[in-house]
Amino acid sequence: MVRTLHWDVIIAGAGAAGSSAAYFLGEAGARVLVLEKDRLPRYKPCGGAVPAAVFRLFPFSFDPVIERRPSYVIYSWRGEQAVRWPLAGRPICMVMRDRFDWHILQHAQAEVRDGMTVEEVQETADGVRVRTAGGDILHADYLIAADGAHSRLAHQLGLRRQRELVGAVEVEHTPAPAVMERFADSALFEFGALRNGYLWIFPKGDHLSVGIGQLRGKGSELRAVLLREMRKFGLELENTPWHGHTLPVYRGPEPLGTTRCMLAGDAAGLVDPLSGEGIRHAVFSARLAAKAIVQGKVPAYSRAVARYARSRLHPILLLARLFYEHPWACYRYGVRNRRATELFAGWLNGQSSKARIMTGLLLCFLEGLVRLP
Ligand SMILES: Cc1cc2nc3c(=O)[nH]c(=O)nc-3n(C[C@H](O)[C@H](O)[C@H](O)COP(=O)(O)OP(=O)(O)OC[C@H]3O[C@@H](n4cnc5c(N)ncnc54)[C@H](O)[C@@H]3O)c2cc1C
Repeated sequence: MVRTLHWDVIIAGAGAAGSSAAYFLGEAGARVLVLEKDRLPRYKPCGGAVPAAVFRLFPFSFDPVIERRPSYVIYSWRGEQAVRWPLAGRPICMVMRDRFDWHILQHAQAEVRDGMTVEEVQETADGVRVRTAGGDILHADYLIAADGAHSRLAHQLGLRRQRELVGAVEVEHTPAPAVMERFADSALFEFGALRNGYLWIFPKGDHLSVGIGQLRGKGSELRAVLLREMRKFGLELENTPWHGHTLPVYRGPEPLGTTRCMLAGDAAGLVDPLSGEGIRHAVFSARLAAKAIVQGKVPAYSRAVARYARSRLHPILLLARLFYEHPWACYRYGVRNRRATELFAGWLNGQSSKARIMTGLLLCFLEGLVRLP
C-alpha cells in the first residue's frame, strides 16, 4: 500500500548524527520522522570514545550508557616504549554505540521507524519527497541525510562525489580477567605498527573494544596487523568476530547542503583525519543542521559547518600530515610528552583553543628534542 504523509523534517539514519538532529529539532517543536534501515538499537563498529564536551550539549544524563571513564592513557610504539599518563578530568567516556545512539533517540520527540531504508530523495518546489525501499512515499519540508559514511543520499543530491573513505576494523573482546583488569581504567593507543594509522584498546563495562584504523591511503591487512599486535598485550583475537567499516575523513570545506537537504555526521565527511574521531562532529553538525532549519537558514548550513570545522578539524589536517609523515619523531618527541596529553585532554574537554593547542604541541616537540637522547 502506498501512503502519502507530511512532516517538517525527515531524518535518514539513526546514528549519533540522526538521533541528535531528531533530539534538537524535537526540542524546538518540529514534527520529525526518523527513518533507520536497521532494527534499533543497532550495533555500530566504533571505539565508542566520546569527548566529555559532547555530553554537555544535552540536558539529560548519559550515566546509564557510559561504560567507563578511563583515568589513564597509555601510548606505545610497536608494543614497546610505553608511557602511561593520567587523564586529568577524565575527558573521554567510553560507550557502546547501540546504547549511546539509542539513548539520545529515546529522548527525542520524534516518530521513529526502524527497518526502513530511504531509497530515494527528490527536492520539489516546496519540500522533499522521500521514497522508502518498501515503496512508501513521504513528504517533508526538509531532509537531513545522516545515513553514514557511504551516504547514498549525498550521492543522489550531487554532494561529496569526491569523498575519501579510509578503513578500520573493530572487535569486541572479553579477555582473561587479569587482562581486563590491566586495561579497565586506561585507553591504549599503539603507534608504529602500520603506516598512517594506529591501534587502540578501549575498556567497556565487561569487555574491551579493540581496533585498528588507517587514516590515509588504502587499508592493507588491517586484521592481520591487529591480531599480531594485540598478542603483545595478551589478547588472542583469532576467534573473535570482527567488523570492518569505513571512515570518511575530513579534507576541507565543501558544499554539504541544497535548498532543502543537509548532510550531517559521516555523511558530511566530518571525521578527524588524525584520530578518526567522528561522534563529536556528528553531534555538532546535527545541531547546526537543526539550528539552520529552525532559523530558516538552510542555505547557510555549509558555511556554518565550515566555520565549525575551521576551529575543530582544520588545524588537525596539519597535525595529521606531520604525524603520519614522521610518526616516530612525533611519537618520540611529542606524544610521549605528558604535557601533550594534558593539551589533548583540554582539547577533548572543549577547553583549549586552536592557538593554544598548536603552540603547546610545538613547545612539547621542542622540549622533547632538547631533553631526550
Ligand atoms: C572502527 C571504527 C572505530 C571508531 N571509533 C570512534 C571513536 O572511538 N570515537 C569517535 O568519536 N568516532 C569513532 N569512529 C567514527 C564514528 O563511528 C563515526 O564518525 C560516527 O558513527 C558517525 O555517526 P553518524 O550518525 O554520522 O553515522 P552512523 O553512526 O554510521 O549512522 C548512520 C545510520 O544511518 C543508517 N542508514 C544508512 N543508510 C540508510 C538509508 N538509506 N536509510 C535509512 N537509514 C540508513 C545506518 O544503518 C546507520 O544506523 C569510529 C569509526 C570506526 C569505523
